[in-house]
Amino acid sequence: LLNLLPIERRTLTTCGYCGVGCSLEVSTRDNEIMTVRPATGGSVNRGHACVKGRFAHGFLGAADRLTTPLIRKNGTLTPATWDEATGYVAARLTEIRNSAPDGFAVVSSARATNEENYLAQKFARAVMGTNNVDNCARLCHSPSAVGLAATFGLGGGTNPFDDLDRCDAVLLVGANPTAAHPVVGSRIFQRVMDGARLVVVDPRRTFLARHADVHLRPRPGTNVAVFNGLSHILVRQGLADTDFLEAHTSGYGELLGLLGDYTPERVAEISGVPADDLIRAALIYGQARSPAIFYGLGVTEHLHGTDGVRTLSNLALLRGAVGPGTGGGVNPLRGQNNVQGASDMGALPDLLPGYQQVKDPAARTRFVQTWQTGLPTRPGLRIPQMFASARSGELKALWVIGEDVLATDPDSTSVRAALDACPLVICNDLFLSPTATAADVVFPVAAWLEKEGTFVNFDRRFQRVRSAVAPPDGARSDFAVLHAVAALMGADLGCATPAEALAECASLAPLFAGISHHRLDREGPLHWPCESAESPGTPRLYQDRFATPDGLAHLAVRPYLPPGEQCDAAFPYLLITGRREEHYNSGSMTRRTGNLRLLAEETVDICPGDAAGLGLAEGDRVELSSRHGTAVLRIRVTDDVEPGQLFAGFHFPDATVNSLTSSVEDEFTGCPEYKLTAVSISSCS
Ligand code: SF4
Repeated sequence: LLNLLPIERRTLTTCGYCGVGCSLEVSTRDNEIMTVRPATGGSVNRGHACVKGRFAHGFLGAADRLTTPLIRKNGTLTPATWDEATGYVAARLTEIRNSAPDGFAVVSSARATNEENYLAQKFARAVMGTNNVDNCARLCHSPSAVGLAATFGLGGGTNPFDDLDRCDAVLLVGANPTAAHPVVGSRIFQRVMDGARLVVVDPRRTFLARHADVHLRPRPGTNVAVFNGLSHILVRQGLADTDFLEAHTSGYGELLGLLGDYTPERVAEISGVPADDLIRAALIYGQARSPAIFYGLGVTEHLHGTDGVRTLSNLALLRGAVGPGTGGGVNPLRGQNNVQGASDMGALPDLLPGYQQVKDPAARTRFVQTWQTGLPTRPGLRIPQMFASARSGELKALWVIGEDVLATDPDSTSVRAALDACPLVICNDLFLSPTATAADVVFPVAAWLEKEGTFVNFDRRFQRVRSAVAPPDGARSDFAVLHAVAALMGADLGCATPAEALAECASLAPLFAGISHHRLDREGPLHWPCESAESPGTPRLYQDRFATPDGLAHLAVRPYLPPGEQCDAAFPYLLITGRREEHYNSGSMTRRTGNLRLLAEETVDICPGDAAGLGLAEGDRVELSSRHGTAVLRIRVTDDVEPGQLFAGFHFPDATVNSLTSSVEDEFTGCPEYKLTAVSISSCS
């Protein structure tokens, strides 16, 4: 009888939800997932996984999974064959390529593998002849890429996550890893239980804030003042490492000139953080033997997000706690599974794979020789610019791969106007998402448990993604779809397999030169930079020198500037948006699993005093209005939020939280100011 039972197969892969990159062991029988367990040897998760990675896989077999391409005919999305859909797209894109290549743009995806991102940017550049390619990092950690590169030389986190184990103090800023990166949250909590000191900087009282030695609650939008204030105290208390600063940094003299203005008392006025708390926090960080900084979107998603990253990084430099110093460095908690990799692969309008400038002659020569085609020279459009270009009638086709821009991008009313105005919107998705519903062509595609490739997690770790089950009949990988359309346009993208795509990328991008599927299968994860087949990778950056042209880290001399959104009599509350533990981003996957029983709808969090003042009780429905739109949600009464502030997630498209948010952007990167929106609140009863 045992011989008649289907054989259980076990596949080691990488979680496709958040940027922690947990290793998972997936047991399957007859193409059905039986269990998903954290892999005991997982290099990041060490046997842990969260409620998303372990249990949220039922979406694969959801009844509304797309398995047939759709083409809009007479205003209605109509089933089509693959030949029809790819042929239609290829014909329309050929017209655009032959007339005005910059009339095309592609939004690539953190949900896609590295190899698919590599192919997407190659399609844009080599097939269409445009640099109009971007990915959702634009909307979250683009200030990290730009800010960290300006300070240290490379746009990734400085240390491996395991350095947490040697840290005696953690400065956690603008992040709630317990919800958004649960395994990181657990490991930080374990470290605190083991005696590490913890400072949390967050307007909300998160789980880790409740366990912090000091919790600073700045008014949203005042981060730069707080970071400059902490730097002021480090210097004033004699905690700046002057030997390190002299040997490894530039700009200290100018920074001292600026910091004089950021006394604890002045910072208290700007941010609302009591001066004594600011001093206690600075002393914990400054007096630690090996302090580490972890930060999230509460630093980046601001009008001055890049300044936030840079002034936060100043702390590590002042303390000598990064690079050749002894600390745990500066570590962005990248939100999505492969948001680091999408940027690494060059799905960016100004950078080729491996962060090489599109204008760099040496890099261009390599790509031209390998791809056997010309390359566009002008940097392309960022995602918000793509939408603006569509609204103005210049953009003729937009290909959105694995993103639900209508649910997750800010000011969704203007995003919808862009999709409506664009003559051809192509969407690759698992489901008929709001964006797919607005598209002209929809390709049904494979999910992360159904395909081969690699992801890069938040600490620059390449890891293998392996197909545990086959996609449903009718769905294809993004990799296959890009190949098919290119072929019908008379172009050969090369790279017949994901392994070949990564090999080609590695041959063109020195940062990844030593990384291959073969090595990852044989040796396990590798951190970039990994510049040769002999290199073991570089978990800890800058051990000898920083990666800037002069080898020095550059301290940022940036003043506090007010945020874009301001409250007034009409919009007296500040709304903060963020993630919940049970769901992931637009929720299109997790809402189709048992996780829906854990959290069935979005709420807006309000403190007890404000709720009472408005005559509201737990569960009441309210309408939120901003200068950009409205949303209706139930309230959750909690002292997690300060008076005058509200919090909501964005995992439920029917709650339309992103119709409220503003498209005000960081001046250096175009990252939206998601973290504060002025709103009013009124009862729906
Ligand atoms: Fe790990 Fe993140 Fe996946 Fe949870 S969602 S299992 S923390 S990678």
